[in-house]
Amino acid sequence: MKFKYVVIHYAEIALKGNNRGFFEDALKNNIEKALKKESIKFLLKKISGRFVVELDEEADEGEKGYKKISEILKNVIGIAHFSYAIKCPCEIDAIKDTAVFLLSGKNFNTFRISAVRADKKFPWTSQQINEIVGERIIADLKKNVSLKNFDAEVIIEITTRSAFLYTKKFGCIGGLPVGVSGKVVSLISGGIDSPVSSFYAMKRGCEVVFVHFHSFPYTGIESLEKVKTIVKILDKFQFEGKIYFVPFADLQREIFVNTAGEFERFRIVLYRRFMLRIAEKVCEKEDAKAIITGDAIGQVASQTLENIKTISEACLISILRPLIGFDKEEIINKAKEIGTYEISILPHCDTCTRFMPKHPATKAKIEIVKKIEKNLDVEKLVEDALSKVEIVEI
Ligand code: ATP
Ligand code: MG
Repeated sequence: MKFKYVVIHYAEIALKGNNRGFFEDALKNNIEKALKKESIKFLLKKISGRFVVELDEEADEGEKGYKKISEILKNVIGIAHFSYAIKCPCEIDAIKDTAVFLLSGKNFNTFRISAVRADKKFPWTSQQINEIVGERIIADLKKNVSLKNFDAEVIIEITTRSAFLYTKKFGCIGGLPVGVSGKVVSLISGGIDSPVSSFYAMKRGCEVVFVHFHSFPYTGIESLEKVKTIVKILDKFQFEGKIYFVPFADLQREIFVNTAGEFERFRIVLYRRFMLRIAEKVCEKEDAKAIITGDAIGQVASQTLENIKTISEACLISILRPLIGFDKEEIINKAKEIGTYEISILPHCDTCTRFMPKHPATKAKIEIVKKIEKNLDVEKLVEDALSKVEIVEI
């Protein structure tokens, strides 16, 4: 007997009422895309509220083949957990034999059987299946049942046509399949936070398009390469990525020369307002419904509530900040988990440091910022930056 099947469970999708079919199709599509991208041969079916992937006969059952599949599935957002399973007919004797096969040769003392009936026409209840199969294990393998402190578990899923049995569950990210919530534009800086905030947007079903502001050629090409590498890493969650690289140096210089003396403190807030205006235009072009940033309250000078308010006023579209309540340590841990941390900590300089103020305003009043902007041709600066955008597909 071979673990030729992968039983995939999704959690939240089941709760979404009328949207259920739409969510299931999206998840199915994403699983197929992810496996095909790695040239895995398979057949995917929806059976009784779960997905079952039938692997190719030649699939390497050893660590190599299954490890690769696990790596892929683990990153498909929307999957709650999956298991490598053996399929048998929906007959109690076949189920008993398969359960014995699964536990034979395993080193354990106590066990439990956990049956789930997706097909209520099966003549035994879940509890009866647990007892019948359990008795057989006790008789054949001389082991004891322990429902709470067990060393081994056999999970039996009875579907309309077959039963699937397995002993191990692999937990996944959960969330909603990428794409079901629509599109967003994420401001990605190359720092630690914005890749994590982009991930959280994906986790709630958003397809993410990236926008990065840079001062190349005044700053090195490395910062652009760095953002591409980060987006490539994030692509394992959404399969393809698009980055808008926006040249920002001319705009920064214009703000710089208009903010001498007492107004110097407002530069960062002004830069951020222009970033949002440009991102809002990208949203229009992409038909995206919101902007995502990696802000967390109070982390740096520009992220006080007062500044966030003044910055947000620059555009009409919703700005979502998935990290707003996170501590830096929590963000770092998540960045390590999703694989972006090691790249994010590499030294980089996305925008010219000489344009930065020494003491940024922490409570930038909207009236003052607007007064400064009166001396700038806001629309033209935005249009100029947009006309020089370079779009890179990853
Ligand atoms: P990060 O680690 O994401 O850079 P941060 O804590 O360094 O965040 P800031 O540098 O103030 O904070 O940036 C706040 C947010 O503004 C970022 O999370 C990002 O969403 C956006 N942002 C900052 N710089 C850029 C940039 N060069 N291009 C695109 N977005 C940017
Ligand atoms: Mg930053």
